Amino acid sequence: MSAQPTTATGASAAAPTVKLLINGEWVESAATEFRPVVNPATQEILARVPLATAAEVDAAVGAAQRAFATWRHTPLGARLRIMLRYQALIREHSKRIAAILTAEQGKTLADAEGDIFRGLEVVEHACSIGTLQQGGFAENVAATVDTYTLQQPIGVCAGITPFNFPAMIPLWMFPMAIVCGNTFVLKPSEQDPLSTMELVRLAVEAGVPAGVLNVVHGAREVVDALCTHPDIKAVSFVGSTAVGTHVYNLAGAHGKRVQSMMGAKNHAVVLPDAHREHTLNALVGAAFGAAGQRCMATSVAVLVGAARDWLPDLVAKARTLKVGAGSEPGTDVCPVVSVAAKQRVLGLIDAGVREGATLALDGREVQVPGYPDGNFVGPTVFADVTTDMSIYTQEIFGPVLVVIGVDTLDEAIALVNRNPFGNGTGVFTQSGAAARKFQSEIDVGQVGINIPIPVPVPYFSFTGSRGSKLGDLGPYGKQVVQFYTQTKTVTARWFDDATVNDGVNTTISLR
Ligand code: NAD
Repeated sequence: MSAQPTTATGASAAAPTVKLLINGEWVESAATEFRPVVNPATQEILARVPLATAAEVDAAVGAAQRAFATWRHTPLGARLRIMLRYQALIREHSKRIAAILTAEQGKTLADAEGDIFRGLEVVEHACSIGTLQQGGFAENVAATVDTYTLQQPIGVCAGITPFNFPAMIPLWMFPMAIVCGNTFVLKPSEQDPLSTMELVRLAVEAGVPAGVLNVVHGAREVVDALCTHPDIKAVSFVGSTAVGTHVYNLAGAHGKRVQSMMGAKNHAVVLPDAHREHTLNALVGAAFGAAGQRCMATSVAVLVGAARDWLPDLVAKARTLKVGAGSEPGTDVCPVVSVAAKQRVLGLIDAGVREGATLALDGREVQVPGYPDGNFVGPTVFADVTTDMSIYTQEIFGPVLVVIGVDTLDEAIALVNRNPFGNGTGVFTQSGAAARKFQSEIDVGQVGINIPIPVPVPYFSFTGSRGSKLGDLGPYGKQVVQFYTQTKTVTARWFDDATVNDGVNTTISLR
């Protein structure tokens, strides 16, 4: 396997550079440091991403700040009609962008189309902003006095996104922010910004005006510059817990509204009365799809009572999955995103063995014909796992499923609730009473009942909780309209001559 340089300056000078978008212009960065965008199946360097300079970040925020002055007053209908054009363009270009996404991120073409589709649904929902951004009204709160609320845009917002959904997660952010009347600076993942940039291009083509959407590339320094910039009012972050906590604290200390959606350890609880075939299919798909690189991937299977006996069937099913390049038909399990990610996953598998778990299926030595350099890890299953092992305490973010046996549903619920993360969980059962008890007592933000990856559709909001989220409001849905707007409450009296003379009121009461 050939290791990749951390900076591609010189080494891959032939690869095209990724542009910034500042004030409607595609800008060649003056950066001196670049990172390579690498195909995870082949190690081909597809492009070089600049780590933008401080002046470029300033220019992007400045453009967004200037554009806000007019964009905030653009009629709702004009804003939502841009979103109508945008959703049509995304639909039209979905297959082409999916191929780019697969090349830079690794996931299968079908899953790449799914990544785009789940983002497209948010854009479709943004077209309903006319009803989503409505305020309230109460007539006659006192004589001739009415009270009403306005949901006003807050200004320049920033978004920082992870590598695992380069389409869906940027689309969680900027369409809803700008349709509410804000302007935006996006910082995509530096590992796979190409498909994100294609979506940004389509937004411009749909009619998003200059300065309303800007893009800067980079890593820690650019993120810190956004979190501390005095003209940015809100920051949306999706990524790991360590970085999300840093962003939340730094941007919060600089007076910004912040939402951080972060890491996970998602448990699927299997009761012995569950539909066996459906449940095993669900577990295997949710654990190993996208090589386990989903924040809602099933990473822990909790087999309750007699469901413990299902382990051999679970392993047998996982063994049938085809590991391969995402661009190859029939691939079930794609490569992980980078050489470093593969080394980390292999290190955690080694730790699981060292710490005494039973390696029921070992994906470490998987070979993929035609792709000798790919970052492949085969489906891996650990049994006899205890909660103090690193494979349980850490988010592996690879195709590794850890299996824990317990005696009762109560024990399973207690186990899930003891885990610090609260992103997603699922229960598999044919008992409505058991499912209802689970949904009521489980302390996790998103619950699936016979559904392995319960990511809510955009008419609801993404609602991870506890260690998986900082900030009160989730991305997309009604919650994000609250996040991207400031409520202003107006109390107004209009009177005619007959009602004017009610004297001086020296109290706080409305009369
Ligand atoms: P990451 O935290 O490494 O990177 C996320 C973003 O932060 C990127 O844009 C990156 O450039 C930037 N960044 C990286 N290091 C930084 C630093 N030291 N300081 C400031 N910024 C930095 O995450 P990732 O590896 O790209 O994505 C995987 C993680 O994201 C997993 O933990 C996964 O669970 C999580 N995730 C969570 C959700 C959710 O909704 N809860 C969704 C998708 C992914």
